Amino acid sequence: MSKQNGDVLRAKLKEVFGYGQFRGNQEAVIKNIMANNNTFVIMPTGAGKSMCYQLPALLKEGMAIVISPLIALMKNQVDQLNAFGVNARFLNSTLNKGETTRIKNDCRDGKVKLLYVAPESLTKEENIAFLKTCTVSFVAIDEAHCISEWGHDFRPEYRRIREIIRQVGNLPIIALTATATPKVQQDVIKNLHMEGADLYKSSFNRTNLFYEVRPKQQAKKQIIRFLNDFRGKAGVVYCLSRKKVEEIAELLRVNGFKAAPYHAGLDASVREKNQDDFLNEELDVIVATIAFGMGIDKPDVRFVVHYDVPKSLEGYYQETGRSGRDGLEGKCLMFYSHNDLNKLEKFNKDKPVTERENARVLLQEVAFYAESPVCRRKQLLHYFGEHYEAENCEMCDNCTRPKEKFDGKESLKIALNSVAMTEERFGLNHLISVIRGIENQHTVSYEHDKLSVYGKGVEEDEAFWRSIVRQALLYEYLQKDIENIGTLRMTPKGTAFLEKPYEVTLRKDHSYLDLGEEEEAEKESPVAKAYDEKLFEVLKTLRKKVAKSKELPPYVIFQDPSLEEMATTYPTTKDEMAQVNGVGMGKVVKFGAEFLKAIEGYVEENEITTASDVVVKSAGQKSKMKIYIIQQIDRKIDLDEIADSKGVKMDVVLEEIENICYSGTKLNLDYYIDQILDDDKQEDLFEYFLSAETDSIEAALSDEYNQDYSEEEIRLVRVKFLSEYAN
Ligand code: ADP
Ligand code: ZN
Repeated sequence: MSKQNGDVLRAKLKEVFGYGQFRGNQEAVIKNIMANNNTFVIMPTGAGKSMCYQLPALLKEGMAIVISPLIALMKNQVDQLNAFGVNARFLNSTLNKGETTRIKNDCRDGKVKLLYVAPESLTKEENIAFLKTCTVSFVAIDEAHCISEWGHDFRPEYRRIREIIRQVGNLPIIALTATATPKVQQDVIKNLHMEGADLYKSSFNRTNLFYEVRPKQQAKKQIIRFLNDFRGKAGVVYCLSRKKVEEIAELLRVNGFKAAPYHAGLDASVREKNQDDFLNEELDVIVATIAFGMGIDKPDVRFVVHYDVPKSLEGYYQETGRSGRDGLEGKCLMFYSHNDLNKLEKFNKDKPVTERENARVLLQEVAFYAESPVCRRKQLLHYFGEHYEAENCEMCDNCTRPKEKFDGKESLKIALNSVAMTEERFGLNHLISVIRGIENQHTVSYEHDKLSVYGKGVEEDEAFWRSIVRQALLYEYLQKDIENIGTLRMTPKGTAFLEKPYEVTLRKDHSYLDLGEEEEAEKESPVAKAYDEKLFEVLKTLRKKVAKSKELPPYVIFQDPSLEEMATTYPTTKDEMAQVNGVGMGKVVKFGAEFLKAIEGYVEENEITTASDVVVKSAGQKSKMKIYIIQQIDRKIDLDEIADSKGVKMDVVLEEIENICYSGTKLNLDYYIDQILDDDKQEDLFEYFLSAETDSIEAALSDEYNQDYSEEEIRLVRVKFLSEYAN
């Protein structure tokens, strides 16, 4: 079959898949394959790569082989094709002997149009022998970047593909990928011997995605605040470890999001259910390791958060690419910290040397990206070898909140001179040593200490010069040498600048040093110190008034720490107020109304924008103990017995009981108190608490009328008292 006219192709597209038109490069690619030419397709995720080989497979005589790295993805595609009435099958390790034989027979009989094969199966002798007996039309290699060890997803078996194809026959090859830096691209072509192949590269620019990087500081609070803006909408949160995935999924659930985890450690059935629930909108948020998302095609994902620093920009781009496929909003937020970088470096420690070195280079690119002040879109596209012209994309943090700028003419001159004068043969670190006049083995042995540029930049630190060189790269005064990784060369633009320098606007990098805590320690009480003192006074006055009208001591209404927290988080609804430590729904119903009104008025009057500031709820370990104690008290079990059965001291049980009581849960301890104190004594202590200024135990113990009572007795009566009056 030779050239195909477009009408025939479109008719088939409509007939089988029901689509009226081709997208982007699809038609050109398909025509090229129909003409038996080797073809290299680079298209961003979601652009419709599969169609590029599926349609020609149907039109051509024989069977197309599709090599795909992921078994789950393979099954998914084959199911979809079968649903369209296309006879597609797969060969991989999940099949039993009988199934394998049946599929092979169908292939030999010419019934199968597309055969998906995992690279591991492809390399088996028996399968090569089998493929030789089939009529094969062409070979498609999906996720072709897996061939390259310079990419983020290297699979050694991919390197043997070319040799095997040759054994099967002289077949046209189509390689496809969604991410390929110029280096990876070159590697794929070389490895598949596709030097003459026609390249079809679509723009990677996803204009509807907003990119943002934030310091990883109080990350839990930040993520909840971020997700609050997306309530009821779909999104994915990526974490690096299974443990983190579980932790964040739990955090989100506790804070009222419909979220579930997804990682390789979960049972396959659970994973499948969570994925299905996400697709069917039973779940809004999936918290996942990178394993999630390959091959799922949900158009309305509204946000992608990288809670941990990703391992490579390629992976990052692919993952963020899963948002906004329908062309509507897609927000991509990355949390960044040096701490994460160090952790990732440590993971790599046990890898073989070259792999470790590659991983380090990939990670460094992520660091440069995060710290750079240059438009995120420009950086990402530059990374994939694409030029982005616009000054301001208006859809990234660096464009909407630009960093401080300065005239970079002199600095740029120094940076470019360091490259030119060392004959374009060195990488970043050496260049910076030259610029800063660092005397070391290399600068001395190459005699670079004799160059006029040597030491020209001694007044600025390493980070400054790294930033200048990176910006020179992004603005295309310099370029990377593809053959020699790490080496920087001049571009014509750079050479022209050195001949006739002009004013250049550069910006300052983000600084991620001296960050505070990444996450708040999981304290039982998230009471902040810096509360709004004015509001606190307002609430205190109100408390006095309410206490008086109810003839109760003020602390029975709300304790000081609770008021402080209200003056920090400004709760204006019952639910919000019930989240305040020491305030349960019971108390809100009983005393809350006036306080809510007061806070609302205050917030309005002072135009406080933090009114909906986030309180991060945590399901701490302690809650289990609490639940146990409440259950045991319900069953009227003696407190010393509860302590014994939990292996803790009475003191600990008392403290828990107090915590329970202070957060608004009523506890009926009469069965126990009646055993240790007669009615008169109980009344005595009740009187004391009713008239006391405070409910402090120390104060009670030192009161002369209470000399006869033990601390335990006083504490128990206080609980009874608070349960009756305050809750
Ligand atoms: P990729 O592999 O590039 O991420 P897919 O091949 O999975 O993307 O295609 C993404 C979606 O686009 C699929 O749902 C596919 O059915 C759809 N699609 C592909 N080609 C067309 C087309 N010409 N018109 C409409 N939808 C298409
Ligand atoms: Zn931008």
